[in-house]
Amino acid sequence: MSARAAPIVQLPPLQGLPVLVYSLGIEGRDLARWLIARGARVTMSDTRSDAALAAAGAAAPEGVERVVTGQPLLDPAGFGLVAVSQSILRYDPALVRARELGIPVTSQMRLFLQLCPGRTVGITGSSGKSTTTALVGEMARAAGVEFVLGGNIGEPLLARLDDIRPSTTVILEISHTQLQYTDRSPQVAAVTNVTPNHLDQFSWDEYVGLKRNHIAHQAQGDVAVLNADNPVTRAFMASARGRIAVTSIESPVEMDGAFVEGGEIVVRRGSRTVPILPVSEVRLRGRHNLANAVMACAIAAEAGWPATAMARALRTFSGIPHRLELVGRVNGALWVNDSIATAPERTVAGLRAFSEPVVLLLGGRDKRLPLDSLQEAVRERCRAVVCFGESGPLFHGAVRGLVDVALLVDTLEAAVEAASGLARPGDVVLLSPGGTSFDAYPNFEARGAHFRQLARALPGFREEVSP
Ligand code: ADP
Repeated sequence: MSARAAPIVQLPPLQGLPVLVYSLGIEGRDLARWLIARGARVTMSDTRSDAALAAAGAAAPEGVERVVTGQPLLDPAGFGLVAVSQSILRYDPALVRARELGIPVTSQMRLFLQLCPGRTVGITGSSGKSTTTALVGEMARAAGVEFVLGGNIGEPLLARLDDIRPSTTVILEISHTQLQYTDRSPQVAAVTNVTPNHLDQFSWDEYVGLKRNHIAHQAQGDVAVLNADNPVTRAFMASARGRIAVTSIESPVEMDGAFVEGGEIVVRRGSRTVPILPVSEVRLRGRHNLANAVMACAIAAEAGWPATAMARALRTFSGIPHRLELVGRVNGALWVNDSIATAPERTVAGLRAFSEPVVLLLGGRDKRLPLDSLQEAVRERCRAVVCFGESGPLFHGAVRGLVDVALLVDTLEAAVEAASGLARPGDVVLLSPGGTSFDAYPNFEARGAHFRQLARALPGFREEVSP
């Protein structure tokens, strides 16, 4: 993996240029600061009200000339550049208009990938992005290399450009909405999987196209790391422009990459195979996390880090909050917070992480996704399901008859109470809701934190240390 040559950026000269920044969120503010530092005259536009922006702590950075809030995004006519946060979808009327007017459009991740002087490792996928990115970060730490971790984790990435040197490895989590605007690919670009998700925002073909964009701009010396167990990412091999490394937890791979064989994670490069560690020593639970572990090893191998660093990270990394986070035990039942599971597919992955009977808490805001695989997993794994929130009735209708007990309640609070009555020693009580949190919470973290708090208040609650 070599550092890029001097970046070529097609941006109009910024000194004195009127630039319109869409959204006052973290990415919009990062863009505004970066643009102002280069002499641009920045206007910011956000559809949220002043009260909502104040509640989100979103204030315009110093030097912004004009801020327009509480109305549709400002018309871009008269601006020389539009800079957008990933939250603005590319078919938003304001962006359609910018394109009609021939105004260049950029974004935080687009600019970052154009300007980053370091070596880039980018991770996308429908699920497993954060876990794999965090694991790769742990492997970089264990390898003792100089690295920066960032991307779709809510931080001002452009503000960090000055700290990045050609020898720095930049590990980026990249979402499909960031991929709407990027025209560069990371030098090591990994796709964990592509499954139906976000179909309320994009058609399936558009969504797959966004994920493909992650590897579409690679050069010959770059490498795409693709999950061979997922049909969509396997098909991406045909569009790779650089080298390919593949991963599998199903069967050994014949190409460069990482796989599981004889109960061990193994990395292959050329004709050499290197055992990393026994699967039983991976600290994260669940088969999906094994896929993330194998993906992280393939990425680390491409980055040139030693097997010992990969093994050390896999033995110690215990996961990130709200993702199958072990909250504690109540009367012998394990309570688990998987609030990040905002789609049925993710609930399925969460359910499959446990061999114990599950009391499942399902609910939130529905994303109009298919429920068949969820129904199958519920039939296989659950002893009881408690449905709550806006999509409670929908989920209840889908699982009733598949399990002994299917209850419908209003709130998460009521669901926790019902679950505590249903759980038996040895069960897992799992909040893996299958819907977004926006029916009742500002984000999945708030929902997970509430669940944790409700569980901790139950009589007999005991803390549980991660395995
Ligand atoms: P992302 O960053 O893509 O949202 P995370 O790593 O935060 O993904 O994991 C979120 C949830 O997605 C997990 O709790 C689990 O339910 C599911 N998940 C994670 N990795 C995978 C995977 N490789 N395959 C299928 N599901 C997964």
